[in-house]
Amino acid sequence: MSAITAPRGTRDILPQESWKWSFIVNSAAETMKNFGFSEIHLPIFEHTELFSRGVGETTDIVEKEMYTFNDRGGRSITLRPEATAGVMRAAIENNLCAQGASVKLWNWGPMFRHERPQKGRYRQFYQIDAECLGIADAMADVEVIALSIELFRRLGLKNLEVVINSVGCEKCRPVYRQKLVEYFTAHIDELCPTCVDRLGRNPLRILDCKNESCGHAADGAPDIFDSLCDECREHFEKVRGGLERLGFNYTLSKRLVRGLDYYTKTAYEILSGDLGAQNAVAGGGRYDNLSKAIGGGKIPGVGFACGLDRVALVMEEQGCSFGKRPGTSVYCVALDEESRGDVQVLTHKLRMSGLSAECDTSGRGFKSQMRSAGACKFACIIGNDERKSGTVAVKNLSDGEQVSIPIEEAVTFINEKLKNSETLV
Ligand code: ATP
Ligand code: MG
Repeated sequence: MSAITAPRGTRDILPQESWKWSFIVNSAAETMKNFGFSEIHLPIFEHTELFSRGVGETTDIVEKEMYTFNDRGGRSITLRPEATAGVMRAAIENNLCAQGASVKLWNWGPMFRHERPQKGRYRQFYQIDAECLGIADAMADVEVIALSIELFRRLGLKNLEVVINSVGCEKCRPVYRQKLVEYFTAHIDELCPTCVDRLGRNPLRILDCKNESCGHAADGAPDIFDSLCDECREHFEKVRGGLERLGFNYTLSKRLVRGLDYYTKTAYEILSGDLGAQNAVAGGGRYDNLSKAIGGGKIPGVGFACGLDRVALVMEEQGCSFGKRPGTSVYCVALDEESRGDVQVLTHKLRMSGLSAECDTSGRGFKSQMRSAGACKFACIIGNDERKSGTVAVKNLSDGEQVSIPIEEAVTFINEKLKNSETLV
């Protein structure tokens, strides 16, 4: 029988990578705190309706990427393909935005989309997501964009491009949509079969088709700026003004439309020059119609999602620092079989004091234990003599200096030593 492997498009994040992910998530958590966002934990599966109504029937996600199944009670369930709809559902269900209140929430975790797996594109992937609910003003858009830029600045990412656009609202988008239908109907020969199909259902999506010929046709398409209503135009100007005041560079792109139907006004993406085809590290924007689409009241919102897998890839490629890999400070070594119990007790006490301590639990010999101790700062050695005299030999592994101290003083002694060596660094 062949061994069972992980399903296609999924992978294990092993220890050599997972500590880097912790670094990214911890840095994000700190940034979110600085920007006043609180963490929310959401279900990984939701009622399918949440996404078919909230993400939109004509999006790639709902049309062909969702993991949907009937549970044992016959209900249609979907593994979440994105977080925004779930955050909005939670806000409505828990009355977080009652009486015009606003709330800023963030979360991170796995998302699921049935896509063709390739570098930077997986079927189970991870997002860091931030949503600001209850505020319609453009200053909230600026804050959210600033948050995503700051997240990447702290991680040390280089060569990023912020691309923004406005996708209008329910008042002006139909007018633009009509213009697009007319334009693309005249250029139907240049469109791929998928876009010919999109023409009748969601012509805006043709604008971000990756097909070269569609892209060429899209370059000549009418510009949404010319169709925006006064409110959307003013909102967009305010967003641009706010970004400029904060000193951010950005590019305008009339072809940036986002795949999700609930987006209104601001749409943006952060691209990395180092990722090839999967070059978006974050995407977001405003979604003032999402709440109503899923049966809630009027709750405007703006947010973004950042692809953790892709950020880790770019950081690796750009040689960004992930900080120091957490290691073990102290290794406790047993000189003989009889000392192993005392060694485990000392190790546990060191751990209780907050240090990273390790000892061998498999019964390996002295030499092999000392090899494991190699990467640590201190070794605590206990043998027959130490047990008799109630002491422990503490060896500083960087300079080889060894002292004998009473066992009951060991924890305090090593903590002091480590504190001093830390301040010296
Ligand atoms: P793309 O155009 O690359 O498919 P998208 O528009 O579908 O992206 P969003 O729904 O905006 O992506 O998700 C936000 C971010 O999540 C993306 O910018 C990307 O970094 C990441 N992401 C999306 N899909 C995947 C995936 N299948 N694998 C890894 N990361 C992903
Ligand atoms: Mg996609």
